[in-house]
Amino acid sequence: MVSGDGSDGSDGRGTGHRPHVIIIGGGFGGLNCALALDGDPVDVTLLDRKNYHLFQPLLYQVATAALNPADIAYPIRSVLRKQDNVRVLLADVQAIDPDRRTVIIDNGALTYDYLVVAAGAAHSYFGHDDWAHHAPGLKTIEDALKIRRRIYFAYEAAEREPDAELTREWITFVVVGGGPTGVELAGALAEIGLHTLARDFRTIDPTEVRVVLLEGQDRLLPTYPDKLSRIARSDLERLGVQVRTGAFVTGIDERGVWIGEERIPARTALWAAGVAASPLARSLGVPLDRAGRVLVDRDLSIPGHPEVFVVGDLAYLEIDGKPVPGVAQGAIQGGKHAAASIERLIEGHEALDFRFRDKGSMATIGRNAAVADTGLGQFSGFFAWLFWWVIHIVFLVGFRNRVVVVFAWFWSWLTFQRGSRLITGKYPSLPPVQSGLNAPAGLPALPPAAPADEIQSPPALH
Ligand SMILES: Cc1cc2nc3c(=O)[nH]c(=O)nc-3n(C[C@H](O)[C@H](O)[C@H](O)COP(=O)(O)OP(=O)(O)OC[C@H]3O[C@@H](n4cnc5c(N)ncnc54)[C@H](O)[C@@H]3O)c2cc1C
Repeated sequence: MVSGDGSDGSDGRGTGHRPHVIIIGGGFGGLNCALALDGDPVDVTLLDRKNYHLFQPLLYQVATAALNPADIAYPIRSVLRKQDNVRVLLADVQAIDPDRRTVIIDNGALTYDYLVVAAGAAHSYFGHDDWAHHAPGLKTIEDALKIRRRIYFAYEAAEREPDAELTREWITFVVVGGGPTGVELAGALAEIGLHTLARDFRTIDPTEVRVVLLEGQDRLLPTYPDKLSRIARSDLERLGVQVRTGAFVTGIDERGVWIGEERIPARTALWAAGVAASPLARSLGVPLDRAGRVLVDRDLSIPGHPEVFVVGDLAYLEIDGKPVPGVAQGAIQGGKHAAASIERLIEGHEALDFRFRDKGSMATIGRNAAVADTGLGQFSGFFAWLFWWVIHIVFLVGFRNRVVVVFAWFWSWLTFQRGSRLITGKYPSLPPVQSGLNAPAGLPALPPAAPADEIQSPPALH
């Protein structure tokens, strides 16, 4: 909170003007910045093209049907409803003009005194954007629902598939990228076949699922300590996941993934590899890194514009030779720091350098298995898994969401089930079914289907 000059609500320059702060993005960075400006003599406008804050760390649980979308999302407007100095606008930001202090949105433009850009990142397919169609990434609710559809559709298609080789293709899943998201997805995919669906099909045996995890570097979780990488690998292998390190994907199509000359036949490929910053960064007209992130100054402002801050996944900063990681804590702390800097600038002080407090990192591998590298030390197994859940529930926004997630998680843990196995939206055509084929032993073959024009209309109702 700003002290001193808040009584007249002015900017302290005797102009009577309350500074207008625009925040772009209601993710971890933007939302925490807005919350930290509570009670300050500023008018804040938070812009987001979604009306909800998304808790991305639990997104893979939606993609694998353990949670519903609304369990991990919360209306931004509700989070900020008690904060009188903030208005929230649903708006798609198209560009930023720092020289005119203007933000261009769909159908309008807004001017600011201070700007905080927290628009996050999207996927990068390293120049192969055509792969996106075959191997969706996981960043939004829409992505999660697409992945959920593909996973459960693959089993339905396999159940109807008369050809054994094609059946195998349907129940083979390739995950590209061995970071935390790839590891979590691969573990969950194995568990879906081994436990969740194990007894639900009659023709196929879901426990024969094949999950392949591909990582270009020489170990999984490359940013984690070596010991935890090895534990993650052996936990995944215990679940039957085939882990391939040093494997560079050279092609992906509808029916498989290429690594050089080798082809892995698979109908479902998922992308958990590259990250590219929001294209908004380009409109700032300042230097970017290769991933399109803004090379911010040490106080998180951009060169030549001390009133513009970039935080979270969109920013790139090295402190003591180490990059601030693209994780929730980086964005939360960045958002709070930008708010504190705005307060200082209004009071006539200089902004301070950003210090990142690394609270560690964690990845879960499956039921009762996780790895954690925290201030408390490095640990793995059941306690790391429990710790992972506690931390995620604490940081989840919304009391209802916390209760629902605890219940859903406990229920899944007890029953091995996943509560939201819905195939929603459009899906491709399924393999044709011929009578007698695919019928499990003991069931009589169905009579041949009548040609379409012989099917009689049902009797009329009176
Ligand atoms: C699948 C997954 C799992 C993860 N797991 C973990 C984890 O376990 N632990 C961890 O610490 N981190 C994790 N992360 C990383 C973490 O979620 C990010 O570092 C964090 O969300 C970054 O916060 P941010 O505010 O920079 O961006 P985001 O949270 O991505 O928020 C960006 C916001 O900006 C909005 N926006 C973007 N462009 C525009 C525009 N043009 N106009 C209007 N609004 C716009 C978006 O709608 C969004 O609300 C994970 C990320 C993913 C994708």
